[in-house]
Formats: sequence, structure tokens, C-alpha cells
Amino acid sequence: MKLLAYSISIIVVLGCFVDVNAQSTGRLKKVVIDAGHGGKDPGARGRYTKEKDIVLAVALKLGNYIEKYLPEVEVVYTRKKDEFIPLMKRAEIANKSKAELFISIHANYISNPRVRGTETFALGLHRTQDNLEVAKKENSVILLEDDYSTTFQGFDPNSSESYIIFELYQNMYLDQSLEMASLIENQFKQRVGRNSRGVKQAGFLVLRETAMPGVLVELGFLSNSNEEKYMSSNEGQSLLASGLFRAFRAYKKNFDEKNKFDMPKEQMKTAKNNTQITYRIQVASSKRKIKEGASIYRKLDDVYEYKDGELYKYATGECKSFSEISKMMPQLRKKFKDCFVIAFENDKRIPLSDARAKSGD
Ligand SMILES: [Zn+2]
Repeated sequence: MKLLAYSISIIVVLGCFVDVNAQSTGRLKKVVIDAGHGGKDPGARGRYTKEKDIVLAVALKLGNYIEKYLPEVEVVYTRKKDEFIPLMKRAEIANKSKAELFISIHANYISNPRVRGTETFALGLHRTQDNLEVAKKENSVILLEDDYSTTFQGFDPNSSESYIIFELYQNMYLDQSLEMASLIENQFKQRVGRNSRGVKQAGFLVLRETAMPGVLVELGFLSNSNEEKYMSSNEGQSLLASGLFRAFRAYKKNFDEKNKFDMPKEQMKTAKNNTQITYRIQVASSKRKIKEGASIYRKLDDVYEYKDGELYKYATGECKSFSEISKMMPQLRKKFKDCFVIAFENDKRIPLSDARAKSGD
């Protein structure tokens, strides 16, 4: 009975693969942000917080950063408020959106209160018993769904046996998922100052059913009092979201670079003629390197540093057109009254007028 159910699931996933080949667009233009749990499913519980609330706050902040600093990217949320969304529905939202990346946000819990740290799972095979335990816990939400036995075709989240199915997937997105996962953990460790437990692989149902590279981020342990305090604070949530944002931006940069030759011929021609023009807004320059943690890093979620002769220069934003970047100016002027738009061609600073002539706006 179970074996039959498994072969049905494989067909579902193969069906998704076909879909995906049709969606190669050359650039990363859409991302799905999935705040875990919600509504009647609180997720893990700390002493005074619930996972569902923390992950929603971080998901919304991350989405805001992307919409603000990378306006060419459309953000699709599986939920924007406190409501219960079944796992299959989350996968369906993702697949329908034809996004290029799926980011699921969670918080962890374990009986030992001393255990702490972030971890990011890439879609793929589970490797150790530990990972299997996390996968079981996150998947067990399907038991809250009224008709789970039919919806999940006999998938029992509490049985290790059910996870054998994942070994059959040689996932085509595993490399990309792993890349995004390690960008996230690097950000958490190096820039946000979290204790990183590293990149892991596990078979999460919501990721398995999603026809795109995907990661599941555990922001920290609600069972650890310091981490609960951090994750429930506005500052902690902002820092975690900006770490996720920087990882996303780096992933997008690599993605766009790698995929520019997969563009249809017509698009390719335009891309060649225009090269890569990027607009940013310069906010500061200094003879000395400005340390992270200094005021400009506190005022901006997104700081781009480049060297121009002897000077270190600092900018924010990243747009392909002058009109897009100009929209950011009024807000930024409130914090940096002398800020101005600058332009780069393939990462080299060029005069604004040349850039505008090339990008045609
Ligand atoms: Zn969770």
C-alpha cells in the first residue's frame, strides 16, 4: 500500500520538473518567502514566544528588504498574517508562482536548553539521525491537517520509513539549494554574529514538493533563553532578516551571471549591447575603511563597499535602471542628505551620463 503511494509521489515531482524547464528566464525575478506554521499550528514554543510569530516577523522584514533594494524581484508570500496554511498549499503557491527560489523560515526547539545556533537545510537527502529528527518535527504539522491521510498519500511524518523515499530523489536543484544555504549560514556567522551550526540536508516535505531550489532556515532555538530573547526582539529580527537579504542578493547575483547565456536569442542581443549597468546610491566616502557596526551599517540594511583610488566608498541599493533607483532617493535623503546616484558597468564605476545613455532611461 505504501509502496504504491510512493510511486504516486514520484510522478507528482517529475511532473514539476517538466514545468520548471519552461521557466528559465535568465534572471532571478521571483522568490517565495514561506513563514512556517501559523494559525492553529504555533510551531515550536519558547517560554513566552511562539515560532509562528517570530518567523512571520522575519519573513515580512526580509520581503520588505527585497522589495525595497531589489525592486526587479517579485516577492510571493505563502502567508502574510497569522493563518494556517497546509504544507501542500505552500508548495502549490510556490509552484504556481514559477519562482526561482523558495525560502522557508523556522525556529528550532530541543529539550537541552544549552543547544543554540542557526542552521539551514538544503533540499536533499537526510544524512544523519539528527537531521531526520528535525525533518520529522517540521513535517509533523501535516498531522494537524484534517484530511492528511489522503492529501499525503500515506506519508507518515513520524515514521523513519517514510523518509526512505527521499533517497530516491537525486535532486536537480541540490547544488543551488546548497549554495543558498551556505550563503545564509555565512551571513549569520560572519555578519550577524550568530553561532552557526552549518548547512544541512534533510527531506522536508514542503521543500520536496517544491519545484525550485529551496532552503529551510532555522533562525535559532526557542529552547535557549538567550536565543529566544534575541529572536523575539525587533533588533534581532531585523539583523536576521538583513543577513537573509544579503545572502539572497549574493545568490541572485551569481544566478543572473550564470544564466545570462541561457536567455532567448532576442534578450541575449539586448543584454550584450547594454552590458551590465547597475545603479546605486552613494552615501559616504572615507579614507579609512568603515567598520561594520558603525552608524552607516546601523542606518542601512544594505551597504555596498567599493574602493575608488585611495578612498573607501559606501553605497546602497542596486537597480538596473535610473528611474528605479531614483525612487529610493527621497527616503534616503532623510538619513543622508548629500547622497547621490552613481553607476557601474560590470562593477566598474562609470559616469552617470554614460550609464544613462547605455541603459536608455
Ligand atoms: Zn518550524
